[in-house]
Amino acid sequence: MAQSISLRNLTKSFTRGGETFQAVDALSLEVHAGELVAFLGPSGCGKTTILRIIAGFERPTEGQVLIEGRDITDDEPNKRGIGFIFQNYALFPHMNVFENVAYGLNVRRESRKETERRVSEVLELVGLKGAERQFPNRLSGGEQQRVALARVFVIDPKVLLMDEPLANLDAKLRIVMLAEIRRLQKRLGATCVFVTHDQKEALAIADRIVVLNRGKVEQVGTPFQLYANPASCFVADFIGQANIFTGRVVALGEGRLEVSFHGRRLSVRCSPGVDFREKTEVALAVRPDFVRLVRPEDSLLSGKLLSGVFLGDTMEYTIEADSGFFVRALVPFSGEEDVLPEGATVGLKVDPQDVLALPL
Ligand code: ADP
Ligand code: MG
Repeated sequence: MAQSISLRNLTKSFTRGGETFQAVDALSLEVHAGELVAFLGPSGCGKTTILRIIAGFERPTEGQVLIEGRDITDDEPNKRGIGFIFQNYALFPHMNVFENVAYGLNVRRESRKETERRVSEVLELVGLKGAERQFPNRLSGGEQQRVALARVFVIDPKVLLMDEPLANLDAKLRIVMLAEIRRLQKRLGATCVFVTHDQKEALAIADRIVVLNRGKVEQVGTPFQLYANPASCFVADFIGQANIFTGRVVALGEGRLEVSFHGRRLSVRCSPGVDFREKTEVALAVRPDFVRLVRPEDSLLSGKLLSGVFLGDTMEYTIEADSGFFVRALVPFSGEEDVLPEGATVGLKVDPQDVLALPL
């Protein structure tokens, strides 16, 4: 049976250069049994520290870790029933695949017969049946990653922690392994925390994403919720991308705001649960793919095209609007003849429905 994880008011202080700072700052969070939650945040925001606290390699300065309602904050790491995959999941180079995978069972003094049965079952699961006698240096990056997964799955952890496990793989293999990890995790029914700084990985793998910023939770939600209704500029720009402009609140409405923006009045959307006040400044977030470039005479807003970058399926344009702010626009690539030249004057259009007001 999968087990829930509760983090209660978790705090970890470190001292650096004589100064104390909170690497994890009063963090509370519930991970449901069987759920795959991704911790997403920039480097240094405390992701690894939280995982190490859950695993028991680090003691929190304050707060508790509960598994299935039981306080395990003071338990030894090896008594927690937790599987951990590090970023550098070094396999034992002098052991073959079978021995690498069997390692955890041997430590537990499992019988030879049971060990063979479990290793064989897990290798089948990760698609490495037949590779038992191979040594790690003869395996591809993806195969080594699968051995690392098998090595943890074999001990049948109820809770599985992964710290940027795909960082050493190339982009294509990463996509394959993401799907693979998700499939295996659901099949094993383990509760999983998957740490990454890569929003694409988090969106692809997670049931829910926890966006972290400086040791604090910025927002928790499903990938769709966070993308559609980010609660802060940090989340809007970290999950997907966003142009962030500044406007002023003119009037409040139900789920909408009237704002003034460079002399214009717009009725824009606001994320549920975010409070605004009249006459205050607000951030206006617009995804680059919602900015349309039109002929200058077809828009009230125009600007000069500063640069265009070819990204394969899209062109990324940067425009300096006549009012002095910069806009990024992503336009589907439709052929070389449609690419707009640098220096061109273009009109800018955004549907107010695609503008989201956020606290500044
Ligand atoms: P992330 O995994 O999100 O990149 P970490 O959890 O590794 O972040 O680190 C969070 C912050 O805590 C960073 O500023 C890091 O330098 C600091 N830190 C981590 N471990 C220690 C330690 N043992 N002593 C002092 N500072 C640490
Ligand atoms: Mg880290």
